[in-house]
Amino acid sequence: MQLPLLIQIKAKGFAVLFVCLLFSAFSTNILANANLFAKANSTQVINPLETKEQSCKFTNVVFKVDFEGARLNSCEQLSQHEFMLSTDAENRPINPSPWYAFKVESSLTQDIDIVLRAIESRPRYLPKISTDGKTWQSLPFSVSEQNMHFTIPQSKTPIWIAGQEILDNQSYLDWKNELLLKSENLRHVVIGESTQGRDIHAYISQQQDNHEWVVIIGRQHPPEITGALALKAFVETMYIDAINPAFFERFNVLIVPNMNPDGVAAGNWRHSSTGVDLNRDWHKFEQIETRLVRDKILSLLGEYSKLVFALDFHSTQQDIFYTMPTDYHVAPANLVNEWLKELKPRLASSFVIRERPGSSPGRGVFKQYIADKFNVHAVTYEMGDNTNRKMIEHVAKEAAISLMDKLLTTDSDDFVYLDDKTGGTKTNSP
Ligand SMILES: [Zn+2]
Repeated sequence: MQLPLLIQIKAKGFAVLFVCLLFSAFSTNILANANLFAKANSTQVINPLETKEQSCKFTNVVFKVDFEGARLNSCEQLSQHEFMLSTDAENRPINPSPWYAFKVESSLTQDIDIVLRAIESRPRYLPKISTDGKTWQSLPFSVSEQNMHFTIPQSKTPIWIAGQEILDNQSYLDWKNELLLKSENLRHVVIGESTQGRDIHAYISQQQDNHEWVVIIGRQHPPEITGALALKAFVETMYIDAINPAFFERFNVLIVPNMNPDGVAAGNWRHSSTGVDLNRDWHKFEQIETRLVRDKILSLLGEYSKLVFALDFHSTQQDIFYTMPTDYHVAPANLVNEWLKELKPRLASSFVIRERPGSSPGRGVFKQYIADKFNVHAVTYEMGDNTNRKMIEHVAKEAAISLMDKLLTTDSDDFVYLDDKTGGTKTNSP
């Protein structure tokens, strides 16, 4: 016989259910269960930040989510040193990317065994441990269906556990300071505020007589850290480590490294604070974040400039370059093919360049928007979740150098798409 004690608290319109204590007459174990957040469903969007002050407190162990990027939806004590935790999506339907991040404080003199359940999903991100929230190491683990099992070593100081390194909004501000200190080429601007009022930061390098623009964006999907690491290495190569003056004498660049700061803060699996996949909104433009970036691009281009190439950084199971097909209405048709061909011999032979051309009109994907609106190539640059971090830097560095070379050796006229049927140029020509 079980006697659950239920306390319902209504806060800001959300009914949050706390199952505080669950006593079982058949067990000597005390089962404590604290639902941190209401369970997500297909109609309700959960904003975990509403309850970020909450912790899962047990006699000797506390699981904390009081930091940006944290995600833990419930915790249950199975025995003194064993806990069942769960992560749930912000809303559904959603791509299966069960993100988790939490802090552990323990007064136990033994290790803590964790079962982490991915609600209605399967584990994707492998557990990492940190003592400072900045440097991370992989933890041994096993997986059984929805659950991931791992052990947190005994520690007198707090321990961070997360699915990847935590790159929170503050880390982008720290990076901003470093970038601006080391690069004279870059200007920082805030292009507007996210849905929840966070600044969306951008960097611009621009010379008055340049009329060709390259656009680089990232972090539409919050947990895609390897893509974020690639973007940072790519930009640092362009502006700090391997500056190519000829490139900046011809091309202007707009960089928006963190398009979804609300999702990053909330530790979302994929969506913005409104429960929307931003990389499906580049058709309807219903979200503030996509509109802000689109409007910034259009205002920079004005009447006489032309967007010539764009990159969007992500992560998935493998390293993949999603490209536009050569027979799509983009110019020059073979630009990306040739770039990736030139990149290959610059890379360690163990890195496999997977080029996946494809188009998805009307689906709201960034690269598709760029191709349809400006008739030029855009690439979704995907790094594998588990790709070696040094390899990510190596590939990003060589990709940046070779892309700058490739764009420089392409004539301006070649970026103008000639419509075969009419023989004329599309409306995006300068
Ligand atoms: Zn993505």
